[in-house]
Amino acid sequence: MKSVYFERFGGPEVLTFGERPEPVAGPGEALIRVRACAINHLDLWVRAGLPGLEPDMPHVLGNDIVGEITALGTGVTHLRVGQKTLVNPTLSCGACAACAAGDDHLCRSYDVIGRKRNGGYAEYVSVPAVNCLAYPENLPWEQAAAVPLVFLTAWHMLVTRARVKSGDDVLVIGAGSGVGSAAIQIARLHGARVIATASTAAKLAKARELGAHETIDHGSEDIAARARVLTNKKGVDVVVEHVGGRVFEAGVASLAKDGRLVTCGATIGSKVTLEVNQLFGRHLTLMGSWMGRRSDLNDCMPHVTSGALKPVVDSVRPLADARAAHERMEAREQFGKLVLVP
Ligand code: ZN
Repeated sequence: MKSVYFERFGGPEVLTFGERPEPVAGPGEALIRVRACAINHLDLWVRAGLPGLEPDMPHVLGNDIVGEITALGTGVTHLRVGQKTLVNPTLSCGACAACAAGDDHLCRSYDVIGRKRNGGYAEYVSVPAVNCLAYPENLPWEQAAAVPLVFLTAWHMLVTRARVKSGDDVLVIGAGSGVGSAAIQIARLHGARVIATASTAAKLAKARELGAHETIDHGSEDIAARARVLTNKKGVDVVVEHVGGRVFEAGVASLAKDGRLVTCGATIGSKVTLEVNQLFGRHLTLMGSWMGRRSDLNDCMPHVTSGALKPVVDSVRPLADARAAHERMEAREQFGKLVLVP
């Protein structure tokens, strides 16, 4: 089968388009004919060889998979060959106390398809059958592939972790990112007032189209100062953050009393300065979040199929152009998801 794989860590140039053996559906698995696969920041980290993320070589990336089931392994009775599916990207043991409690994101074996296990940059991929969800028939393949990872992540951050509620002022950092574009919509769905940041006038306009009530140009404006002005000096109740460094610090400085900041990434820097007197004096809560529960995606999907939450696709490329897609993401040129089609 045609596939994009890499045999050594490095930049986008290590991605190789070529032939790989077609996988088989093992016991409890489904073989998927991939119709579209979205790119995530996680792919860039895995490709670069971030410590702790090293897969066996050669490796096939790709967390966000949609396609048709072409074969089923032994023991799979709830799916049928020919069925369309959207694949939940999360992996967990299903047997431990955390999994039994529905806290599968805390499972010690928690992982994501495409990180150690081969993913969807290919014509075929095998996945655990329990990951095959009903396909959102209102969406074409390229848009459905833009849903799973970022909507799961943003739902977990806003709903499960930060407990967003009607009337909250929510600051979404980086409206052009996949998580940012999903978070704007999820916050709005829950009745929040959304303030979104982005770096260009075009991205700020798109953030408003997605439902942001206010926008901040984080290239030319002081995020915390603008957040204070836009909330009549109160500050925001929730910050959705995934950038790190000075942006994380600006997020903390933007919070109202009892405010919650939830972060899922540190693309510009992992070390920050924190004023502890601000933390206790203003009753702040700082939360980490990575991916989410199976139930987060399950809770989110009805809003996707109803059209209330819309995946945002930056561009669609053939699988052979994965390298160009990675380069675009590294340059932060995109608004929404980059999608590959085999
Ligand atoms: Zn488990």
